[in-house]
Amino acid sequence: MNMMKKDGKTLYIVVDAVNGFMKEGNLADSYIFNIVPTIIRVLTEIKQKDDYLFFANDKHDALKSTELKNFKEHCCGGWESQTVDELIPFEKEANGVFYKNNICSVLCDDFREAILALDDIEEVVVMGCCTDLCVMYLAILLVLLFHQHNRNINVTVYKEAVQTFNDDLVHRREEYNEMAFREMQRMGVQVKTLGKGDI
Ligand SMILES: [Zn+2]
Repeated sequence: MNMMKKDGKTLYIVVDAVNGFMKEGNLADSYIFNIVPTIIRVLTEIKQKDDYLFFANDKHDALKSTELKNFKEHCCGGWESQTVDELIPFEKEANGVFYKNNICSVLCDDFREAILALDDIEEVVVMGCCTDLCVMYLAILLVLLFHQHNRNINVTVYKEAVQTFNDDLVHRREEYNEMAFREMQRMGVQVKTLGKGDI
């Protein structure tokens, strides 16, 4: 009997790499699109491996969404909720594409259950936007979800693979990135700089 433990797999999650946040729309900031080449690099490198890939995209019903009382209208299905063209080839080969009606993907039952059903993962890597919103609430809630189920799974965020929007008056990009990195670290997320050999 072979007692050698097989190394666990990694689940990569791309959150909100959608047109409505990266290209055009009330909440779009084209600066965020600058992370797409990094995401492509990571996803290209993992293609040969046996890892998992999920996409989680924002999608609201314009008539029903209560989130739209807090945020300007955005990602109401259609083009805005679609993954940017540059990542579509990866989405087509992904293990799951999920749509969320709130900031925190983990609150979507199908998404959460799909993650818990993966019994051979030892790490989850979160990429996408926005650092202080959908990335942070996904990464932290994953840590808490894994604690709840006593699952020994690291959650990792690479700084170069996440980004947020800028508003000089109320939401300075670097300030909110740093705030989110600190808060994620405080809650047990591994916040790293993407180096060679990390993927
Ligand atoms: Zn939304």
